[in-house]
Amino acid sequence: KLASREFHEEDSVFELGHGVKIGGGSMALIAGPCAIEGPEILLEIAKEVKAAGANVLRGGAFKPRTSPYSFQGLGEEGLKILREVGDETKMPVVTEVMDPRQVDLIDQYTDILQVGARNMQNFNLLMEVGKTDKPVLLKRGMSATVQDLLMSAEYIIAHGNKQVILCERGIRSFDSSTRNLLDLAMVPNVKGLSHLPIVVDPSHATGRPDLIPSMALAAVAAGADGIHIEVHSCPEKAMSDGPQALLPNQFTELAKQIQELAQVF
Ligand code: PEP
Ligand code: MN
Repeated sequence: KLASREFHEEDSVFELGHGVKIGGGSMALIAGPCAIEGPEILLEIAKEVKAAGANVLRGGAFKPRTSPYSFQGLGEEGLKILREVGDETKMPVVTEVMDPRQVDLIDQYTDILQVGARNMQNFNLLMEVGKTDKPVLLKRGMSATVQDLLMSAEYIIAHGNKQVILCERGIRSFDSSTRNLLDLAMVPNVKGLSHLPIVVDPSHATGRPDLIPSMALAAVAAGADGIHIEVHSCPEKAMSDGPQALLPNQFTELAKQIQELAQVF
């Protein structure tokens, strides 16, 4: 299998833009709001996370919301804002693509294409992103096994795109005390099975700002190649995932600890 360690023994390393690398010891710190809400607020958050040490900016323009009545994202206008803010703050950007018909549009604006948990087995989407030359952040489906995740990566690679970044973002469990159940054991598990870099997203995994710092650090200790964290300067007013957002000053503190710990592991 193309995603397997047997096929490719060395860790894969990908260039994300602005000189940022992931894999083989290079740590990506991906941060930003859940959704792009406007140019001023995104620029404000981007400057804060950049100053804290983030090296990739995230933000959704097309949001996969559970309710059709929730904010769906700014669409192409959001993509333009993300591109401009990424250029201004000199960070590569990542945004979600939900539909195979949107791949060309989103590819024009972003450095990294995100496939969300709800689309991990949207095979038509996987084949389309597999035809691009952009790194793909592939999030684990909420009920996907490790093998399911690796087979979805296989779809992308088999269609020509080797640059797949896996992402653990928690799986559904019976326990409603956290948003999802963070499977940290999957990190060393997948490292043994695959050469692909792995990012951990404690924001969506726990849904709780009080648990995000310890889980982010545990993810570094587990061998993660990147950490993905949602940050918002005014979580109460966020258009999506406000309750799980870290404030910029909380992120700054955590980013420092992540960088210190990353030196050790
Ligand atoms: C997101 O990154 O905002 C998101 C929707 O994540 P997930 O697909 O992991 O739920
Ligand atoms: Mn989110």
